[in-house]
Amino acid sequence: MIIEEEVLILKEVNYKENDKILHALSKTKGKIQLLSRGCKKNNSPLINVSQLFAYSRCSLYKTKDMFIINSAELIDNFYNIRNNMNALLYGSYILELIGYVASENDVGINIFNMTISIIRYFSQFNKDFDKITTAYELKLVSMLGFKPDFSNCLSCGEKLNPSINYLKFIINEGGFYCPDCVKYGNGINLTYNEILTINRILKSKFDDISSIDNINDKILNAIRQFLFYHIGKSNFTTLKLL
Ligand SMILES: [Zn+2]
Repeated sequence: MIIEEEVLILKEVNYKENDKILHALSKTKGKIQLLSRGCKKNNSPLINVSQLFAYSRCSLYKTKDMFIINSAELIDNFYNIRNNMNALLYGSYILELIGYVASENDVGINIFNMTISIIRYFSQFNKDFDKITTAYELKLVSMLGFKPDFSNCLSCGEKLNPSINYLKFIINEGGFYCPDCVKYGNGINLTYNEILTINRILKSKFDDISSIDNINDKILNAIRQFLFYHIGKSNFTTLKLL
């Protein structure tokens, strides 16, 4: 059976003399493996679509345990990502992160599209890599069903308001404890304004994240810890290079 599918290549593994096995994020089927036959030959029509970061529309033949690329049309290879060390490193982290997440969870079209968007952003703009990455991490964990909710204190129910400062972000529950209730929970200390910034990141598109100027290291760290707790992994190889 032949199917049409959009894919983003996350990892290449050499296979036999001229072939590659590609780990890919697909638009509608989550993470899949593709056999790309003959793609290492100089004249192969599959050369460009069989490389890291390649985003393609493929015609795939399904076998018992993988897909074989029948034909493919490159949509974008995000070429410029290779010309900037930061873009390459942050982009590689995104590929490793989504590769892990997609192997453990059902990831739908929205997560696929968001992943294409951030890779495209990195290939076009040489700035704000950590801010954009934190936005991706926060949106990803939210789409996986762990959207943080800062409307009320988890313990006493007091509504979030400017008089509540020095609150604790409770990672496992995805909310906060107010100063009166802080003694009951372990969490990350954040201020009211930092909570507002996190809410703003959640609502903003990647193109608008750069204009949020008070994304500090505490926020970056809190979001990453929140993501890692809920996906159950923190030791990403590419993260050590950032
Ligand atoms: Zn409270």
